[in-house]
Amino acid sequence: MANLTKDKRFKKDYSKRDIIDYLKGIEKILGRVPSSRELKNFPGPAPSTVTRRFRLWSNALKEAGMRPQTHQLLTGERSFIRMNWREMTDKEIANKLGVTEVVIKYYRMNYNLWKNRKGTSKSTYRKRAFKLYGEKCEICGIEICEWHHIKPKSIDPKDWCILCPLCHAVVTKKLIIINNREDLKSKLMPFIKEAYKAIDF
Ligand SMILES: [Zn+2]
Repeated sequence: MANLTKDKRFKKDYSKRDIIDYLKGIEKILGRVPSSRELKNFPGPAPSTVTRRFRLWSNALKEAGMRPQTHQLLTGERSFIRMNWREMTDKEIANKLGVTEVVIKYYRMNYNLWKNRKGTSKSTYRKRAFKLYGEKCEICGIEICEWHHIKPKSIDPKDWCILCPLCHAVVTKKLIIINNREDLKSKLMPFIKEAYKAIDF
């Protein structure tokens, strides 16, 4: 029996089309996307034949219209979840995307953990801060920078600034106390200029 299967594999030169149909058939039998190892349980092309034809196992699955990973979200799926999680249950979303329900639950937990109390994610504010104040340190102009809250956790852009890690450290280590954006120019800037006076800004 095992010999016969092996023989068949060597005799036939499987085309991409053959392999795609074969994968779809196995999916139907198993009721889920097959793993490459599971292919050995069925007569037909070997896992190595599939990867030889498609270069990657995941490419073969993609071309067969199957999802390579059911425990991980792909690009665009996060926003799909956010747009639909009020109207659809986790189970419905999971079925629609072809992932397990726990992936949706995990994403919700992750999102709730990092969004602030007003219901907007931290990353949205972070993007807004860089858009407003640029992607350079507002003091020294270097393009390695971080988002700083002048007032901790504030969601008011007036309480934000963009600083490089060095200028940021001057503030967080309280060498200079900053209470508002005006203090950036009047207090932090002179301090940094003095500290770096040998360097051209
Ligand atoms: Zn700086």
